[in-house]
Formats: sequence, C-alpha cells, structure tokens
Amino acid sequence: MEQEYRAILQAVGEDPEREGLLRTPHRAAKAMEFLTQGYRQNLQDLVNDALFASSNNEMVIVRDIELYSLCEHHLLPFIGRAHVAYLPAGKVLGLSKIPRIVDMFARRFQIQEKLTQQIGNCILEVTGALGVAVVVEAKHLCAMMRGVQKQNSSMTTSMMLGRFRDDPRTRQEFLTLIKN
Ligand SMILES: [Zn+2]
Repeated sequence: MEQEYRAILQAVGEDPEREGLLRTPHRAAKAMEFLTQGYRQNLQDLVNDALFASSNNEMVIVRDIELYSLCEHHLLPFIGRAHVAYLPAGKVLGLSKIPRIVDMFARRFQIQEKLTQQIGNCILEVTGALGVAVVVEAKHLCAMMRGVQKQNSSMTTSMMLGRFRDDPRTRQEFLTLIKN
C-alpha cells in the first residue's frame, strides 16, 4: 500500500522525495490499515463469550456511540453517532461489546445504510433478542468537502427489528430515549 500512496502523491503532482513527504506513504498505509481493521476481525473473537444469562427483559440502550467510517464511494470519512437498543430474551451482551460491534463494521468501506443494517442484524444474531433498534446519525465529508458542499447536512438511518418494528410503543420509547 505504501507504493500506491507514493503513486498517488506523484499523480497529484507532488514530489514524494521532498522532506515532508518522505515517510507519508508509510504513515498513510498504517492509517489505512487501522481504519479498515474491521475486515480482519470476526464476531466470535470479538464477543468472546461476553454473553450472560439474565432475567432482565427491559430494553437495553447504548446511545451516543462515536462512529468513524469511510464511505465506499469516495473513501472519505463519515463521522457520527450510533444508538443501539435491544430487548433481551434471556441473554445480555457485555456492555463494551456493542461499541466494538459498531467499530468492527465501521472500520471498513461502507455506506451508512448498510452499516446500520449490519449492526442491527449482528446484534440480533448474537443476542437472540426479541427486538433490535439501531439509529445512525452521521456527517459525510464527501458531501461537506466536495460536491454539494452542504457543510452541515447530516444523514440519519435506522433499522428496527422484531418488537421495535412491530410495536409502535416500543419503537417510540426508544426514539424518545435517544433524543438529546
Ligand atoms: Zn462518499
């Protein structure tokens, strides 16, 4: 990947040999490796048995999970927050695992809609919950820095599964709880 970043520097008319850029291909490759580490993670290792029997049948919500991803169309960042809820059916997930699941899917080339669905489906699969809800709010640098240059537009996507889809009251409770 270092060679490719060197080629990009040349393609834009830069001199990869000038002092400030000498280590840039190396650093950029390292950064890209980090930002795409989700491709090299798997759910089993990540959840690592942090699934606990529980009689809790109340909604579990984790809100304001910071989210950093790269759009698959421009390879530019989109940045925002995810809110996740589920209704346990005998099993709860260790609290730190939900942000990790968000990161595993965010650290890939993504579109926001697909990311939202992958998080929702994954949490449903892992917990066997009665319902899962995911809302993602994000600003896309590809829209802010180029193209339409709508500096403050943000996009909201959601996925409602099971009880959250079928029961308007459950869905409304979640939507009320994630409002600022
Ligand atoms: Zn884009």
